[in-house]
Amino acid sequence: MSAAEFDLIARIRARAGTRGDVALGIGDDAALLQPPPGRQLVVATDTLNRGVHFGEAAAAADIGWKSLAVNLSDLAAMGAEPAWCTLSLSLPGQADQRDFLDGFLDGFLGLAAQHRVALVGGDTTRGPLSVCVTVLGLIEPGAALRRDAAQAGDEIWVTGTLGDAAAALALDGIAPYREQAVRRCAGDPATDAARLHERLARPTPRVAAGRALAGLARAGIDVSDGLLADLGHVCAASGVDARIDADALPVSRALAAACIGDARRTLQLSGGDDYELCFTASPGRHAAIEQTLSRVDSAARVIGRIEARPVGAECAVRVHTSDGSTWIPSRKGYQHFG
Ligand code: ADP
Ligand code: MG
Repeated sequence: MSAAEFDLIARIRARAGTRGDVALGIGDDAALLQPPPGRQLVVATDTLNRGVHFGEAAAAADIGWKSLAVNLSDLAAMGAEPAWCTLSLSLPGQADQRDFLDGFLDGFLGLAAQHRVALVGGDTTRGPLSVCVTVLGLIEPGAALRRDAAQAGDEIWVTGTLGDAAAALALDGIAPYREQAVRRCAGDPATDAARLHERLARPTPRVAAGRALAGLARAGIDVSDGLLADLGHVCAASGVDARIDADALPVSRALAAACIGDARRTLQLSGGDDYELCFTASPGRHAAIEQTLSRVDSAARVIGRIEARPVGAECAVRVHTSDGSTWIPSRKGYQHFG
């Protein structure tokens, strides 16, 4: 290990929080963790690369925040309680390496502290900026919100609002959203634009909502690539179709002020990076879901129904509008290798 690498790891170690179930954290060949008896371990990992997941100009603290947030969002989508994480950092060997790391840790460890997640290990190497995070969480056996658990007749719900992060990309003229007609005119344009950018830079993982829904909802996924694409994964895994009511899609005040009509709908249905939860549940659970979510200060609304898939048919997510027509979006969602 080089002196520079040692120095960086020491900086990380000095600031990483811990918790009682970490028997051995940063510093050895591996960490020792003590999961409580009777609960399943839930593991998720996600990598963020400069130029793909964040721009050249992104602030270090925002990169730190988002790299943990997208991982916590995966645990939330399972209904799991986050507990531990690891961080593999590839950093360019620049003079401001330490400053970058300190800023990165402000965002990363700030979010970790909010969710009582301990950073227990990782790897530090030199190379183009890349961040790979693994999160570990816990769940009661049988309670996870799996993609393959949706059933015909289920209500389809979504937390929060959709399309904000994609609108921020559209405002910045970033592909693939730049063709969307987002304007800076209505309401208070500066405030609205700032709100949309905040959603993109610092997504809120819906951890409390996911926990509340575990064992109550059936299937779940987080909206990272766009509602149609992500709900499509649920339908494919569950062998069902979905019908979405376009007019029921939740919209933030900032997005409502920034764009209307088809442009807004496209962002809500196909825009990625919102990290809301989309889940399905029996209509009989409707009231219980509203109650349990309000207890954790979360909100969700029904946006459609799961339908049986006709024999031999391909998986379909249909979007209906109030005038009775079926709406076909210009694009489905974000694809890395598309
Ligand atoms: P090894 O050679 O065994 O891989 P390293 O020198 O890579 O050990 O790491 C030393 C210790 O520091 C290990 O416990 C490792 O988990 C931890 N560590 C290294 N990089 C990071 C990081 N970016 N974040 C958290 N812990 C780290
Ligand atoms: Mg190592």
